[in-house]
Amino acid sequence: MSKPLVVGNWKMNGLRADSTARVKALVDGLRAQPAAGVDVAICPPFTQLALVGSLLEDAPVALGAQDCHKAERGAHTGDISPEMLTDAGAAYVILGHSERRRDHGEIDETVREKVVAAAKAGLTPIVCIGETEDQRQSGETESVLGWQIKGSLPDGFTGVVAYEPVWAIGTGLAATSEDIEATVGFIRAELVRQFNESGKTLRILYGGSVDAGNAGSILTIPNVGGALVGGASLKPDAFLSIIHAAPGA
Ligand code: PEP
Repeated sequence: MSKPLVVGNWKMNGLRADSTARVKALVDGLRAQPAAGVDVAICPPFTQLALVGSLLEDAPVALGAQDCHKAERGAHTGDISPEMLTDAGAAYVILGHSERRRDHGEIDETVREKVVAAAKAGLTPIVCIGETEDQRQSGETESVLGWQIKGSLPDGFTGVVAYEPVWAIGTGLAATSEDIEATVGFIRAELVRQFNESGKTLRILYGGSVDAGNAGSILTIPNVGGALVGGASLKPDAFLSIIHAAPGA
């Protein structure tokens, strides 16, 4: 199995001054207490990619973005292509985050097309799936996740899957360890069903109110290969604690 992967999703947060301070604190923290057994990435907003990328030079932290367009270039005002992200130094891109599905009407097909384009450009896509509170209450979690996996992940998928129950994002209410274990076990089985042998080793992250207090228990759940962290990734001390809580850190 690969190393755990801990990814910080800054969402729409970050001006030059606070991005600089946050990255410096993270890099200094990892110099003081290395975490060589963990892969770490941060995904700032597009406008901060160049700055953050330059601050991460020689640091054990990869750069990622939060979305991309499916086309290589062209008449798509306001969009960013996968090639632009690799050119800016990004290695990862988050795709299909529930906030993009909600705010931009992204559907599984859109996500799948972006995944194909991102992989073609050499990026590792981190594809988010997860059920809403209503879907959970009506017992639809597994069918929703099954459809999202089928619809969002293309043939030959080699990226990362992030299980993010929508009701747990930014609420301070992470799913219980029992629920995460059961649901991520279901996701693993679906990945094996869809991708055979390679489905056994695809990384599955958990995301949704991961913090310094619960990271240790979440990151040791079977089949959980890391965490996608929103709010706590904006606080370097909390993010460092999460990284150091990963098995093998
Ligand atoms: C996220 O946005 O991907 C996320 C998991 O957010 P938070 O950690 O704040 O719940």
